[in-house]
Amino acid sequence: MRIDLHAHSTASDGTCTPAELVEAARAAGLDVLAITDHDTSAGWDAAVAALPAGLRLVRGAELSCRWYGMTPSIPLHLLAYLFDPAAAGLVAELARMRASRERRGERIVAALRVDGVDVSWQEVRGYAAGGTVGRPHVAQALIRAGLVGDTTEAFAPRWLGERYRLPKDDIDVFTALALVREAGGVPVFAHPRATRRGRVVPDELIAAMAEAGLVGLEADHPDHSPAERSHVLGLAAELGLVATGASDFHGTHKPVGLGAHTTAPVAYERIVAAAGGATPVVEG
Ligand code: AMP
Ligand code: FE
Ligand code: FE
Ligand code: ZN
Repeated sequence: MRIDLHAHSTASDGTCTPAELVEAARAAGLDVLAITDHDTSAGWDAAVAALPAGLRLVRGAELSCRWYGMTPSIPLHLLAYLFDPAAAGLVAELARMRASRERRGERIVAALRVDGVDVSWQEVRGYAAGGTVGRPHVAQALIRAGLVGDTTEAFAPRWLGERYRLPKDDIDVFTALALVREAGGVPVFAHPRATRRGRVVPDELIAAMAEAGLVGLEADHPDHSPAERSHVLGLAAELGLVATGASDFHGTHKPVGLGAHTTAPVAYERIVAAAGGATPVVEG
């Protein structure tokens, strides 16, 4: 069984439509794929409708969270699997995140324009095509304007990595954990040690998150060094959490392919068993 539990579609900052994503997963030889767009479940129905025979789909999302226990606060991502997409509390927070992303996108564009960069909010929003707006859509405008060669370059410190990196109103991580569990979902901390993305939270916070209902830690991830990966595996064992692996596929926005990292079948079974049942795994 080849299981990839983290992938993005055009419902957020991936470049494959949900239908293309499930097709690509099958073509890559996967048996299980999770669709985990940023702050939305908007891609779920199209993915289910296009599900190829033999592929199982785990419906999920990647929530923009923040830990406020340190100044300045630290952003982090929580993967939420198999939650009820009609759960009012979670739905409201997802909508608030998407609205906050739009305001931040507009502010990033305004800051770029002040510095004479020829990009517009209309263009950036157009690249998101109705899905969740993210910095990769701003990156697309920078590429079009001829200022950078690719998305990775657009995340350099002089662009979106630092100079034009503006905050958004993320969900308090403990509120997010409670809302995901309340919605029957299974929370897994995405790339918890990826220092190349910026500051990471201390192990003590991960222990507190485990107390608050966290189920797993993403250990095998393209942004983890071998040392970071082993640290996360050790922490998962120590805290009794499930360790997962995933590609965090974003289509052509990132060089990594589907199935580049995978989750063991026993870990996958533990995640499915922890879900409340409102959103079952669907089989094509
Ligand atoms: P946002 O969610 O809008 O803050 O943008 C973060 C997203 O940008 C991540 O989910 C990735 O898809 C992408 N990203 C972050 N860092 C990089 C990077 N160094 N190179 C390419 N894409 C990145
Ligand atoms: Fe992303
Ligand atoms: Fe992430
Ligand atoms: Zn992701």
